[in-house]
This record gives sequence, structure tokens and C-alpha cells, in this order.
Amino acid sequence: MNVADSRRVASALEHLDYQSVAKAEEADVIVLNTCMVRKSAEDKAIGRLTSLKALKKRKPSLVINVMGCLVGVKPSKKLYERFPFVDVFSSPSDPRPLIAHLYAQMGKHFEEIETAGRFAWLDGDIALPIEEQGQLVSAMLPVMDGCSHACTYCIIPSKRGREESRSPGEILAEARALTDQGVREITLLGQIVDRYGLDKPGYPRLDGLIRQLHAIEGLQRIRFLTSHPNWLHDDLLKTVAEYPKVMPHLEVPVQAGDDAVLMEMRRGYSADNYRALIARARAIIPGVSIGNDIIVGFPGETEEQFEKTVDLIRELRLDVMHLARYSPREGTVSATRLADDVSEEEKWRRFRVLEELQEEISLEIHQAYQDTTTEVLFEEQHRGRWKGRNPNNKLVFVESTDDLRGQILPVKIEIAGAWSLIGQAATK
Ligand code: SAH
Repeated sequence: MNVADSRRVASALEHLDYQSVAKAEEADVIVLNTCMVRKSAEDKAIGRLTSLKALKKRKPSLVINVMGCLVGVKPSKKLYERFPFVDVFSSPSDPRPLIAHLYAQMGKHFEEIETAGRFAWLDGDIALPIEEQGQLVSAMLPVMDGCSHACTYCIIPSKRGREESRSPGEILAEARALTDQGVREITLLGQIVDRYGLDKPGYPRLDGLIRQLHAIEGLQRIRFLTSHPNWLHDDLLKTVAEYPKVMPHLEVPVQAGDDAVLMEMRRGYSADNYRALIARARAIIPGVSIGNDIIVGFPGETEEQFEKTVDLIRELRLDVMHLARYSPREGTVSATRLADDVSEEEKWRRFRVLEELQEEISLEIHQAYQDTTTEVLFEEQHRGRWKGRNPNNKLVFVESTDDLRGQILPVKIEIAGAWSLIGQAATK
């Protein structure tokens, strides 16, 4: 989401004839996009922001813009006081305060900023930043903002505001513009992406939107994330199964394997509901791969409850796991009402147990690719190799002196590791 938001700001700046530079020291404008989902992300953002203070001192004309979840829906007084060297604070996804500031500096007034909900010239007409034009193969496209769910641990709803779907017209125009600029794969983003359209009468649901996007010529792959177990409906699963451009990969977090913990998290489903969903997904989409998020050390999580998560993962053998150690986030229900009572050591131990288990599972899944051929969309060169992904979102590397960027080629897998596959591309 933040990658997409940052790109939106970069595009907005290029409309004002700004260009990107390699180093922060050379910049006239610095935009720091921030995440708060875990304490580690917040610490990183604040560390980086603090380091910009010296730059601003040396060059007072420098414009510093902090955006994203550190700012939230509206900047607080506390924020202004703590970081007086920041010129502009802006909410997630919103380039308007920065553009307004730069316009004001040029002595111009930008009416549209005051009136329009979004930039007409940005939405649906998004120009990629110059260095990405014709280079970017896979792009993120947010189809909705915010989140109105209330997982007790999560800060996102309070920072990104309530859930709001973007109009299908805007999304289609943006997808076409991206495709015209060389993008081959689009990943549709939403906090609960399969709730797309539910807040707006007359909008299609996600499967309908995907079928419209499917018709775009030149667009070769469509993905979406993140799903929520309660909203990943069969029509969507069927669309994935039936439409060739929609890749057979789902990101659907379970978060915990114990029902009491799931209840405290207010996720709205049980471990058995999740089991049933995975079985349904696998039945409807043969060969589907599945990614999952888990939080270890949620308040009150006992050893026994944690073991239920381990058992669930051992049973379901999902493809990918995004693991997090619980961290209390200011203002959330769990941080306010529940003691963060699992020690750091214990959180780390649980983290490693799951990490090792997933490594074993991933390796086994990947070994099945050995000596088989898989279709890879190549994105970029990485340490002398071409990097791409197969339909199941597996990272694949091949050695080649050809320019493979943006091509989909069959690759014969020769080495299968837990994190990636290495093979030889068949040239066209
Ligand atoms: N809306 C998406 C993504 C949320 S953020 C979803 O619900 O899946 C991505 C992940 O961060 C979450 O899935 C969760 O596993 C993790 N996360 C969120 N809040 C957290 C917290 N307070 N501590 C640790 N991990 C957290």
C-alpha cells in the first residue's frame, strides 16, 4: 500500500516538474512515507525522520513532508510539537497537502486541492515516475482506502480511516494507463480486498471488477490482496479458477490457530472455519498457493494456544507465512484492555518455531517443482540474475544475458530452495 502511495506522490511531483535524485542530500523535497503497523516500523520511521533534522538545518529551503500512518487521518498537535522541522504532514495516500505547499511557495493557489476529493489528473491518469516508465513490470493498484474492520490489535483502521472503495472507472483507467506504460502485472490492494464494492451501491464486487480488468489488452497478470476469511467468497474463487490472467495465489491471514485467541483478536471466524475455507479454495482452484499472516504472543496466548497455531500450520501446509511478534499499538483495543504479557524471549521463541516449520513446508512444496517447467514473468535483474515470479508467486531466478524484462517464459527448475527456485529459461 505504501509503495503505491509513494508512487502516487512521485507522479504528482513530476507533474510539477520535479525529478528524483539518488541521495537525500541532493533533494529539494523529501517525502517520508511511514508505517505504524508494528512498533519496529514506527521506530524505523521516527529514526529516519530524526536523521533528516540535520539536513534541514544545513539547507533551510528543503521541504520535508511526512505522510502515512504516523500522521493518520489528521495530524495531531503533538506531532507538530515533536517535529517542528517538518513542513508538511499528510494522511496516507494523500499527496494534496504537499502539492498545496509547493504551489503556495510558487505563489500559486491550487483551487482543486481545496475542492476535489482526489486529483483528476492523478487518478485514472497516473503517470509512472520517469525512471519506472517502461521499466516497471509489476505494479500495485489500491482499489480501496482505509479499513472498517476492528481487529483488536490493529492500528490501521484508526490511521487510514474508514473503508472506501474507489470507483471502477477510476481503477480501470489507472490499470490501462499503467499497462500503456509497460506494466504487465497488477496487484489489486485493499485491507480486506474481497470487501471491494460492498460500501458503494452500484459498484461491482471484486470478482466483477477483475473480470472488467481482464479485458485490458497488454495486461497479462492480475493478483489481489489481502483477503479476509469471512469475505473470500466462492464467486471470487471461481473467477480465479476460470480467468487465465488471474493468478492462482491467495493471501488470506489466519493470525492464530486457537479459537479463544481469534475471539480476543475479534477476527470473526474459528480455526475450523479457516480449515473449511482452505479446503474450498483448493477444491475450486486446483494448484492454488496460499499465503498467510500470523501474530505470535498476542496478550494472554498460552503455550497450549500457540501449539494450536503450530498444529494448524502443520496440517494445512500453506505456501508462505508472514510472521509477526505482537506489539501493542497505541489506541487499539488490545493495547488498552489487555496486558502485553508474553515476554519478548517467548515471542521470539514462538516466532522461530513457526519460522522453522514454514521453512520445512516451503522447501517441500518447492522441491515438487524440481525438473518441471513453470511460466515466469520477469521483472528485473538482481545480482546478475533475472528475477521473476511464477503464477503461484514463487520467486524464480535465471541466469541470462538477454533482456527478459516483461517477458513471460517457461523456466525449467533446476534448484529448489525454501525461499526461491533457480532454473533455465527457454528462449523464444
Ligand atoms: N488488513 C490486512 C493487513 C493488515 S497489516 C489483514 O488484515 O490481513 C499486516 C499484518 O500485520 C497483519 O495481518 C498482522 O498479522 C500484522 N499486525 C497487525 N497489527 C499488529 C500488531 N499490533 N502486532 C503485530 N503484528 C500486527
